[in-house]
Order: sequence, then C-alpha cells, then structure tokens
Amino acid sequence: MKCPVCRATYRVPEKVENSNSASAYLCRRCGVDLAPLIHLHDLAIWHHHQAIQALQAGNLQEAMQSNERALALYSNCADFYALAGQILALQGEFVPAIGAWQKALQIAPEHPNASKFFQFFAQILPASTQSFYWSLD
Ligand SMILES: [Zn+2]
Repeated sequence: MKCPVCRATYRVPEKVENSNSASAYLCRRCGVDLAPLIHLHDLAIWHHHQAIQALQAGNLQEAMQSNERALALYSNCADFYALAGQILALQGEFVPAIGAWQKALQIAPEHPNASKFFQFFAQILPASTQSFYWSLD
C-alpha cells in the first residue's frame, strides 16, 4: 500500500503486532501517521477473505457484497478488482467483469489472475457475447 501523502510504498514491519511502538505505523518518508489507513486496509482484506469464502461456498451474491465492502474501504487493491471480475463473470456479467479486470491491471499490470482472465475474455467477447454463451454448452 502507498502513503496517501507522499506515495511512498509502505511495508508493514515484521512482528508489528508484538510492538507497542506507534512509530511502526508512521510513513518512513514523510512521517504521516498511517494507522487509520492500515486499520481500514486490514478491514477491507477481512471482507475480501469473506468474499473468497462465500465464492468457494458457491454463494455469488454474498461474495459480491463482501467484495464491494472491501472495495468501499480500500479501492486501490488489484486483488479486490480481480475477484470482482471473477464473481461477475460467474454471474454471466462478462462486460462488467472485463471492466473490473482492467481496473485491477491499472493498479497492478502484472496481476496474474486479472491478466489471465482479461486476455481470455477480451479475445472472445468483442466478436459476439452470444456465441461465447452458446459455446459453454
Ligand atoms: Zn508518506
């Protein structure tokens, strides 16, 4: 994640949960307190994991809702958009799915899932969404 003030990349120090030092959450470049942001980020990741569990359980709607909560809390994570794309595609929403993967790739151009799915669907879809649909039978 990046510092919103100076855009320096913030890395969570190892064993931060054992440290009582608040300085662990300060940006190393500009010194801004990143603790509130880190808290939101953690919460977003928790919702993202809920979404993955719901997806694995086959509950697409719950997966979508949890992932949207994650994105509302923290919108700069390629994993969240990549997962949104997967859930949308499973619901047959291929065009919004491609949009979600595009956003993931804007954040992380090398994102493995997003680039794999984006390339696959972007090749097939412009020709005809319908013929892709039939080819699933
Ligand atoms: Zn900073």
